[in-house]
Amino acid sequence: EKPRFVEDEEGGVLFYTSASSSSSGHGYASVERQRQRLPVYKNRTAILYLVETHATTIVVGETGSGKTTQIPQFLKEAGWADSGRMIACTQPRRLAVQSVASRVAEEMGVKLGEEVGYTIRFEDITDAELTRVKFLTDGVLLREMMDDPLLSKYRIEWHLLVFTLLGLIHCFWVPSVIMVDEAHERSLSTDILLGLLKKIQRRRPELRLIISSATIEAKSMAAFFNSSRRLQGRDVEGQGPKKESAILSVEGRGFNVQTFYVEEPVSDYIRAAVSTILSIHDKEPMGDILVFLTGKDDIDAAMQLLAEDSHHRNQGLIVLPLYSGLPRADQDLVFSPTPRGKRKVIISTNIAETSLTLEGVVYVVDCGFSKQRFYNPITDIENLVVAPISMDSARQRAGRAGRVRPGKCYRLYTEEYYVNEMSSDGVPEIQRSNLVSCVIQLKALGIDNILGFDWPSSPSPEALIRALEVLYSLGVIDDDAKLTSPTGFQIAEIPLDPMVSKMILASNDLGCSEEAITIAAVLSLQSIWYSTRGSEKELDEAKLRFAAAEGDHVTFLNVYRGYVESNKSSSWCHRNHINYHAMKKVDDVRKQLRRIAQRLGISLKSCDHDMQAVRKAVTAGFFSNACRIEAFSHNGAYKTIRGSQEVYIHPSSVLFRVNPKWVIYHSIVSTERQYMRNVITIEPSWLPEAAPHFYHRQQLDPRLHS
Ligand code: ADP
Ligand code: MG
Repeated sequence: EKPRFVEDEEGGVLFYTSASSSSSGHGYASVERQRQRLPVYKNRTAILYLVETHATTIVVGETGSGKTTQIPQFLKEAGWADSGRMIACTQPRRLAVQSVASRVAEEMGVKLGEEVGYTIRFEDITDAELTRVKFLTDGVLLREMMDDPLLSKYRIEWHLLVFTLLGLIHCFWVPSVIMVDEAHERSLSTDILLGLLKKIQRRRPELRLIISSATIEAKSMAAFFNSSRRLQGRDVEGQGPKKESAILSVEGRGFNVQTFYVEEPVSDYIRAAVSTILSIHDKEPMGDILVFLTGKDDIDAAMQLLAEDSHHRNQGLIVLPLYSGLPRADQDLVFSPTPRGKRKVIISTNIAETSLTLEGVVYVVDCGFSKQRFYNPITDIENLVVAPISMDSARQRAGRAGRVRPGKCYRLYTEEYYVNEMSSDGVPEIQRSNLVSCVIQLKALGIDNILGFDWPSSPSPEALIRALEVLYSLGVIDDDAKLTSPTGFQIAEIPLDPMVSKMILASNDLGCSEEAITIAAVLSLQSIWYSTRGSEKELDEAKLRFAAAEGDHVTFLNVYRGYVESNKSSSWCHRNHINYHAMKKVDDVRKQLRRIAQRLGISLKSCDHDMQAVRKAVTAGFFSNACRIEAFSHNGAYKTIRGSQEVYIHPSSVLFRVNPKWVIYHSIVSTERQYMRNVITIEPSWLPEAAPHFYHRQQLDPRLHS
């Protein structure tokens, strides 16, 4: 498929040029010079002044203007990290946290993990004494707010909560400024965080917030931080800032980007992307190409197609993937300067849209889609769907081409589609997510009136009610919707999805906590298999060596046992198509989870070969994901017990084509069908045992079904 492009009729000027600025990052300029050339540098004084005088400062600036890497350094230089204080900067994405922290450490000439550090789930590269600038995911900051042992003993009143939060923040670290970055992404944790920080700020006037965003949706943010404050009427006098919030726009300096659209809609955007890359390489002057696809599978497929290019039009291309979960060495390649005479092609997920700045990109290829979470409270299914992006995103993606000089953006959709059908902005994640984790976090912080919580955007009441219902069935909350003791508090304390945490808790009585922890560790990673396009057959054969009739969870246990028996050898992993780095990570996460389990009084026991115990533990956490095969089904269709949704076992599951009668899935992905990923067999009688108010026996009685 060879897309034909037409130029945007309006001339496609998306970004203006600021004449004076020239590009940075040739690798020649000194770090200091590079820093001074960034647009935020001109605003240094203004930013510091606003932070000094306002509780909340909102900074809007185009991607690459230096918000993330520079503002924390400005604050540090201005003394906001002196005398026991610290600067924290959150990001929605793990990969961005790692990458930005290491860049800032490099610019400051310090060792990562000392003065500059980062924390993501299960990975803490900070030093309790030395770290002054800390990057972390928004989710981890929420955890840090929660991680207070007192909370497990007392249900505290709101005013006590504030003291606990403050006390807590004091005893770990005292952030003087919290910068909530990439706020335009409106990730679930960012929104919860903004709601909480707004509350905390009222009682801690010396705490400053910076909210930074790549789009000008900032006004609603400012309105959020200004609203209802006056009604409160009991601000602490004195040391607080005089004003509430201010918006600062950093003047962008992108170059013109000429936009092209396909003449006809393309049917296969991966092939279309590949032929677009090759024709850019053929016809256009040097400059790197950034390609937006939706996920690792797409990226692998495109890389494979490029490698197979039989006309050798790929000569001189350096093709690099970029997605979360990519090993560190591969991440670094993406940021390294392009060798002379070569052209880099970076094939990326949404992560390169605004979270990371790639120097040298002149051409952007935008497939028009991204993977997005969608939750339907009626069916109670949350899935990851490849869905059209918004115009906002499309504009951001195009903007990445105008970083160093005028660029070109090739959109693999028609102009007519862009103008008439694309939605103008995205829906905040909180309005399209399952809220179980969100609700438990707020409950653990003592916020009982969740419907009345001051959200930047309110979630749907149906989704909240569904979440409360599931938490009630998990035994996490009681009839009054308060966290139960100890179960609710224990589950809140484990840094995992509440359903996984419940599985671990339940494994204590079932005598299989070691197994449950291994399963939880594996599920916390994207995949433990090493897959490359073209080696699917070998991978399937390798999987068969470990496949368990009980399903994927038990298969993971077999893999882990094999790994331990091989003395954790990398060549064993290699032979078995297992990702060695992933297994090391499993080990690392296991270690941390075992420590948490012990703290919660769970005794570490193995059930050896009693897989019934393991299956029951999974059921205890995931009962709401139970499915039954359709009677007379010829194509392996299942129905969820709860919402009667048609679902299928994913081809990557060891139970694909085995089609046992009753299963529980871990998650759903949908392409042309709704696929269950990571599936385990169960007995239907376990369901009412695990969740009596969730399942009625009639619902499960096979006679009523077949
Ligand atoms: P913003 O947050 O406004 O999008 P950043 O602070 O992330 O901007 O980036 C500012 C500049 O720092 C970029 O233009 C780029 O030149 C440089 N930069 C950021 N991260 C890296 C990195 N990992 N390697 C090399 N340069 C980087
Ligand atoms: Mg940034």
